Amino acid sequence: MNDLKFGRQAISLEEAQRRVLGHVRLQETEKVPLFEACGRRLAENIYAGSPLPHFRRSGVDGYAVRASDTTGASLAEAVCLEVVETVPCGLVPAKTIGPGQAARIMTGAAVPEGADAVVMLEMTNAVHQETGLGGMVAVHKAMNPGDNVTPVGEEAAAGEQLLRKGCIIGPGEAAVLAAFGHSLVKVYKRPRVAIFSTGSELLPVDAPLAPGKIRGSNGYMLACQVQQAGGVPLLMPFLPDDAGRVERELQAAAEQADLWMTTGGVSVGDKDVLAELFGRWDGELLFNKIAMRPGSPTSVGLWRGKPLFALSGNPGACYVGFELLVRPYLRASQGASDPLLSGAIAVLDTDYGKGSAYPRYIRGASRVEQGTVFVRPAGRDKSSIMVSIKETDCFICLPAGGRGARRGELVRVLTIGD
Ligand code: AMP
Ligand code: MG
Repeated sequence: MNDLKFGRQAISLEEAQRRVLGHVRLQETEKVPLFEACGRRLAENIYAGSPLPHFRRSGVDGYAVRASDTTGASLAEAVCLEVVETVPCGLVPAKTIGPGQAARIMTGAAVPEGADAVVMLEMTNAVHQETGLGGMVAVHKAMNPGDNVTPVGEEAAAGEQLLRKGCIIGPGEAAVLAAFGHSLVKVYKRPRVAIFSTGSELLPVDAPLAPGKIRGSNGYMLACQVQQAGGVPLLMPFLPDDAGRVERELQAAAEQADLWMTTGGVSVGDKDVLAELFGRWDGELLFNKIAMRPGSPTSVGLWRGKPLFALSGNPGACYVGFELLVRPYLRASQGASDPLLSGAIAVLDTDYGKGSAYPRYIRGASRVEQGTVFVRPAGRDKSSIMVSIKETDCFICLPAGGRGARRGELVRVLTIGD
């Protein structure tokens, strides 16, 4: 057991992510009402069942005309056309527009056969509207065929792929799903994540402080991260520093959870119960050390076919461990094709003096100034510091070695978000 605890073999973060993503279990799917699908990941490709629009649609309020009838029309010179009907939205035109004729039409209404342009109302004058058969209209603009007419299929042709399996349903996707008649949407079930905080020093959030004790904050932080990543957090009771207890409680939660996540007890101290569990369990350890700061003892194993993410207890390291390993797993388990955090280049806004034996993932705060992204550490970069997590919107990635980085240097950043 001690060999396992102390003879840890560090692997790169990329390798750790590869191993984690190599063991992703895709969530089952379910159908939910479109109204409840916001934020979920789509579990099927969506194709256009019909062209959009499926009829020639007027883009303006005005008169549907034959463009050739308007030749020579101008502000000074009008062409007069006979108005044969009015086409409101939602009804189909009854008549075909012949030479010398026009139809009054509304935005979004179907353009009548025979017409190939719509003149804006502002470019016309209705004459004798109240008399005779529909009256006449004076047109003051020469039109080209197609003017203000949205052709069939302008937005999407029938059969065209509109949405990809695994995408997050946001406002644009919801509109597409509605327009193509998907009242029920097939999505991936939300992964249920059992969250265990370990440590005999932890107090519940509503307890008064006591000497040597702290309120456990990681569980709530992780629950929030799980929700942001589309999962359902199951906040379990705190666990004392007792490996047997931890094992029993994890086992007891196996039925209700798709994966386990623990925080604390994973380094090499006497009371590091997760490290101890990994030494005696019947699961498969994927790794128990990552060449990164913070969070190098972060460990992941597979137990009864489900992953167990053992994150550091230090809040900063716990946060980083979730973002770099658990979030990608949760994304991939809901069908995401690009589950890793996306990278960018930014300008470092301050000197960062700390070198490191391992690549460093500094909690960063970014701002955009005149089109350039600047980043700086979100606060004091110590893995035990919790209050600066709220300012974090990215990680500043510094390679191993050296003396940190200087203000003005270009650095790689990873963006945190959905
Ligand atoms: P550990 O990884 O268990 O050695 O914990 C490292 C540090 O993180 C200790 O100072 C713990 O008290 C603290 N810590 C562990 N778990 C939590 C938690 N759930 N919330 C806040 N701090 C924690
Ligand atoms: Mg502990």
